[in-house]
Parts: sequence; C-alpha cells; structure tokens
Amino acid sequence: CTVFVSGANGFIASHVVNELLSSGYKVIGSVRSQAKADQLLEHFSHPELTISIVSDISAAAAFDEIFSKYGQDIKVVLHTASPFHYDTEDCEKDLLQPAVEGTKSILQAIKKYAAHSVERVVITSSDAAVTSYESDIDPKNLHTEDSWNSITWEEACKDAEAAYYGSKTFAERAAWEFMHENEGKINFKLSTVNPVWVFGPQLSDSNATGRLNTSCQYINDLVHSTPKTKLDMSIAGGYVDVRDVARAHLAAFQKAAAIGQRLVLCAGRFTLVNIVDVLDKRFPKLKGKIASGDAEESKKLLSSLARYDYSKTNHILEFEFLPFEKTIYDTAAQVLKVEGRL
Ligand code: NDP
Repeated sequence: CTVFVSGANGFIASHVVNELLSSGYKVIGSVRSQAKADQLLEHFSHPELTISIVSDISAAAAFDEIFSKYGQDIKVVLHTASPFHYDTEDCEKDLLQPAVEGTKSILQAIKKYAAHSVERVVITSSDAAVTSYESDIDPKNLHTEDSWNSITWEEACKDAEAAYYGSKTFAERAAWEFMHENEGKINFKLSTVNPVWVFGPQLSDSNATGRLNTSCQYINDLVHSTPKTKLDMSIAGGYVDVRDVARAHLAAFQKAAAIGQRLVLCAGRFTLVNIVDVLDKRFPKLKGKIASGDAEESKKLLSSLARYDYSKTNHILEFEFLPFEKTIYDTAAQVLKVEGRL
C-alpha cells in the first residue's frame, strides 16, 4: 500500500515517514527542494521511499504534477505540510494562504487524478483549530473534539501567532467543506489529527542543532537559558510526544472508527516551569545554570486553564501517550548530545 506524505522532511512528518516505512508501507513524500530530498533519502536509505518536489504548496495546482504521475498507486494521503513559524511581515501570504490553498489543492488533485485509488486522507490540523488562546485560558470552558476556534480572517491578520491559529482553522474548515461539497462525487474518507504542542526528539540528530522547529525551540531556549532568564508565564497548554503524533497519523487511516473524525491529541498540560523542573531533575549539570520558575505561579496558571475531554480520540487510538518527563528528557538529551554536553 502506497502512502503520500506532504512536507515529508518536517519535524512531525519525518517521524510519520519513519513509522510508515517500519510498518511496511511504500512512501512517496514531497519536500520543497532537491537538497531536502537528498537529505531525506540519505537519512532513510530505504528502497520503498520516493521523494518529489513541491516547491510551494500555495501555488495553483501545486500537487497536480505528483498526482498525475503517481495518483493511481496512492491509497492514502497524509497532508502535513503547512507553515508553522512566526517569521513573517505578511500573514496572509506566508501563513494563511499556504495553509488554506495547500489543503484545497491537494484535495483537488486527489479528486482529479486519484479519485478511484485514494481511500483515506488525513490532514494534520492542530488544537489551534479547536481552541483560541483566549478560550484556552478560561477555566469555564470545556473543549472537546466538537470545539472550533471562532477566529475570523480579520483577527487572524493581526499578528503572526494569530495568523498561525487562523491558518490551521481555515485550512481544516476548507477540508471539511470540500468533503461536504463533493459528497457522492469522491470515494475517499477524511480524518484530521489535531495535536497540541508537539515535543520530542528530532528524527535525525543532524536536525537537532541551531534553531529547532517552532515547538521544540521552546525547550531548546530553556536548555540554553541562564539564571537571569525570565520564564514566559503566558505559555501554558497541552503537550504530546512527536512519536505518539506519528502513531496517531497511522491510526487515523488504519482505523474505521477514525473516519470523519477529528483526533485531538493531548497527553496533559504543562507550563515552562514544568519543563525546567524536568531539566533540573534529569540533567543535574544544568541545575542552577538555567532559568528557574515559581512552582506556585505555575500551579495557579494550570488551574486557570480550560478543561478538556478528548476521550473520544483516546478510545479510537487505543494507546497510551508517552509521559511528559520522557518527552522533555529525550528532546533536551538529543540537543545536549549533539553539543557534546551530555
Ligand atoms: P515543520 O516546520 O518541521 O514542518 C512543516 C512542513 O511544512 C515542512 O516540511 C515545511 O517545509 C512545509 N511547508 C511549510 N510551508 C510550506 C510551503 N509554503 N510550501 C511547501 N511546504 C511548506 O513543523 P511541524 O512538523 O511541527 O508541523 C507539521 C504540521 O503539524 C503542520 O501542519 C503544523 O501546523 C502541525 N502542528 C504542529 C504542532 C507542533 O507543536 N509542532 C502542533 C499542532 C499542529 P520546509 O521544511 O521546507 O520549510
């Protein structure tokens, strides 16, 4: 069975590709450049991996070439490519459009070239499409798989973080709308995977230097913090390990119960103080040399967050999420190992 993975070199997607190849799937991945393709092919060195180039998912008909070439062989599509960074002066062009247009163009390409071969499509959405920042810091709220971020396009253009939330919300909405509009015209089924903050080691040590992907960079910053660094106590939310996110992408297309569902992945809640606590405990060499936090303030922050119930997802997945301490330890240990400090 052949699986197509967009953005195959990404932090999450590279773990997904790893899980697919180890489970015996053939994988066709897309990346933005030949250099990234070569890196990935060299890392996996696997006969069942093919990589193609899609230089910009926001371009019109971005996926047509790949699906006209390989569409007949592809049974499963995992669309993970989407901008996740805050480095922009033009929120629409850099964040909102690639997310929304990329989602629409991959679905259109499947409809056009692979309507009879593709059976399952999984889109990597986010909890950013489930809750807004404001809604998540209100203890009166209860979030479930049916919750939606109510952000408007105008609000999403306010700044880069709002644009990221908007990009995930509007892209996921576009996908469900596409399914609705094409009912009876397409055979494939849609599921989404909506993770909270994803932490964990990079698949390859070569990616664990310099700036990491947006979510893991928060841990990297703490590993490189000083006792003078002030922890940002506005940061609190859910965490989940990248290896669990990869497993969930496979479950999302393997399980009948996942059809038409949003799988919201959340292993628990954290603050930056909780991360520093793990670093202090597991890396005694760092203790006293990195930032420290106020345990009481952290507890107060956690108790002021919204409640959530993603038990529907957990029933579908049927596996336990990795614990926080392991996730944080493995992320930081890889960085320290690469720096020769472990
Ligand atoms: P990465 O930045 O590591 O991966 C993003 C991938 O998308 C990369 O392959 C990137 O290519 C590609 N991409 C971005 N913009 C474009 C574009 N315009 N054209 C073509 N390709 C593009 O991030 P993650 O692995 O963390 O994110 C993967 C997915 O998971 C995203 O959809 C993200 O929104 C979602 N997600 C991530 C969470 C997290 O905490 N990490 C939480 C919830 C959801 P390149 O490497 O060349 O830039």
